[in-house]
Amino acid sequence: MDLGISGRLALVTGGDSGIGFQTAQRLLREGVRVALSDMKQDSVDAAAEKLRAFGEVRGFAADLTDPEQVRALHGAVRDGMGDPDIVVSAAGITGPTGLFHDLTEEDWHRVIDVNFLTALRVARSFIPAMREKGWGRVVFIASEDAVQPYTDELPYCASKAALLSLSKGLSSTYGPDGITVNCVSPAFIETPMTDAMMEKRAKRDGVDIATAVKTFIDKERPMMTVRRRGRAEEVADAIAYLVSATATFTTGAVLRVDGGSVGTMV
Ligand code: NAD
Repeated sequence: MDLGISGRLALVTGGDSGIGFQTAQRLLREGVRVALSDMKQDSVDAAAEKLRAFGEVRGFAADLTDPEQVRALHGAVRDGMGDPDIVVSAAGITGPTGLFHDLTEEDWHRVIDVNFLTALRVARSFIPAMREKGWGRVVFIASEDAVQPYTDELPYCASKAALLSLSKGLSSTYGPDGITVNCVSPAFIETPMTDAMMEKRAKRDGVDIATAVKTFIDKERPMMTVRRRGRAEEVADAIAYLVSATATFTTGAVLRVDGGSVGTMV
């Protein structure tokens, strides 16, 4: 299927790893030009180098928890490549875990800042130019945790639920301007984020990684009918659809890519 976005410019945050990196590659294959952003210039440049075979891509460093760096990112992308037509916000962390009574005020601030406010800041910077063009696509990466909270990672769950609400609200605000705003909602995707979770679990239980993955699915994700970790490419495919020229009537939506992990229909 031709997605109709060849020649468009996309900003992908969290772009040097996992879902962001695979999304960048997927969009480059569609002929999209990509501004790849992540925390550190050397690693984002290295990621951009790996992607160069697929199309035009440049690396931009920014810590998106710093509003000043988001402003600087906006200026650098605009001056270097132009105003993005597409924004995919994939920056995120698991953050501090533990039961509610063991978490501090600072733990909550950190996760809400990285997972929610970074996406909000990026949207605030880049949506105005989309409005001027009368065309835009914004995708946030939520999570199964947004609608199915797990007791040991409530800050993460709440940060992702906030993204669902923001996405729906922005879709209403900017629909008349030709901008769609959607979420993908993945579960247990094979990336450095869940690699770290599985390494911790394997160490705790004295087992290998494959066994840790299996027991995690069996015990913690019983509704996952596709009984394996998802692939970042599978999430990237869903994102590619949402940012396509084809997806003109899909906005304020949540597209689950979770192997069935969320136990309800809606
Ligand atoms: P990842 O750790 O591979 O990638 C996350 C990227 O975000 C990293 O490159 C990191 O440097 C970047 N980042 C973190 N803090 C940042 C900041 N302050 N400023 C700029 N960049 C920052 O993880 P991933 O699994 O690819 O996750 C991508 C997104 O998908 C995250 O929002 C995550 O919450 C979400 N998600 C992942 C899964 C999963 O199972 N892997 C499931 C649901 C949702």
